[in-house]
Amino acid sequence: MMNNFRYLSTLLLLFLCVPFFGQNDNKNPKWSIALHGGAGTLSPNLTKERIKILENHMLEALSIGESILSQGGKSIDAVQAVVIYLEDCPLFNAGKGAVTNLQGIHELDAAIMDGSNLKAGAVAGLRDVKNPVKAARLVMDSTKHVFLIGEGASAFAKSQGLDIVDNSYFSTNQRREQNERIKKGAEEPCPVGTVGCVALDMSGNLAAATSTGGMSGKKWGRVGDVPVIGAGTYANNGTAAISGTGHGELWIRRVVAFDISALMDYKDYTLEDASKEVIFNKISPMGGSGGGIIAVDKNGNISMVFNTETMNRAWSKSDGTFGVGVIKGDDKSFKK
Ligand code: ASP
Repeated sequence: MMNNFRYLSTLLLLFLCVPFFGQNDNKNPKWSIALHGGAGTLSPNLTKERIKILENHMLEALSIGESILSQGGKSIDAVQAVVIYLEDCPLFNAGKGAVTNLQGIHELDAAIMDGSNLKAGAVAGLRDVKNPVKAARLVMDSTKHVFLIGEGASAFAKSQGLDIVDNSYFSTNQRREQNERIKKGAEEPCPVGTVGCVALDMSGNLAAATSTGGMSGKKWGRVGDVPVIGAGTYANNGTAAISGTGHGELWIRRVVAFDISALMDYKDYTLEDASKEVIFNKISPMGGSGGGIIAVDKNGNISMVFNTETMNRAWSKSDGTFGVGVIKGDDKSFKK
């Protein structure tokens, strides 16, 4: 009788304490954020000065996301704001500064995904929408659809009041010259400079966004992995938020972002192990020009795995630590 009483009172005590354990967790809410600005090979153009400029712009972009997350803002708003900054920055292959197709026309792709409800929005082949990630967000928030392409996507963006620009707005001298070299066969088409962001907010919600001009020298109408949900972009509160960069055809064929999430979901992989498994054991053997991912899990762990010589990357956490890097092994970490 006495034993039963002890057993029941212990159970009651545990039951009463559960809400307090929960509250305790909530007293120290965490946020994490990571971004990428594309992956690629080392080139003579990548001087120390250029690396510094890239790093400064990535840290500036990161600070926009940090300020949203540290004030209790949503991860979906943080990833969108960071990607808008990177789209407006001509150094990256997204928005202004995007590569062109072989005809010299910019066709832009973007996607965004909310891990709290698995809602997603994506656009492809946009020629005149200044910020494709804003169009992707509106597809998610204001339509019953996930993916709009080409003229229909542009018309939708216009109807929503987004900024519309001439296709030449996206051009830079560097991209025009690059396309000429590719047309003459003096340069290989390659994927470099796509942008993406992943974040965990203080409410435990994960989000991912990615934006790109695609692969340089691509065929008219080619769509890469970025707007294909599960290939270049994915978020699920139960696992992770992932944004990819690299040889998009491989990312589509291996469904990279979803595969990382699925390994965590079905096989209990850690984020780091799942990311390494997919990039090194699934993507690397396929050849091509490779690439990488940035990802954050539901506990705020960040993973930045790539099989290329470079990946522009930066990250930050609510504990005051942050970092930035361009070349493999050249990660700089700081504490505020
Ligand atoms: N993944 C992008 C694409 O293939 C390119 C990149 O990441 O730079 O469209």
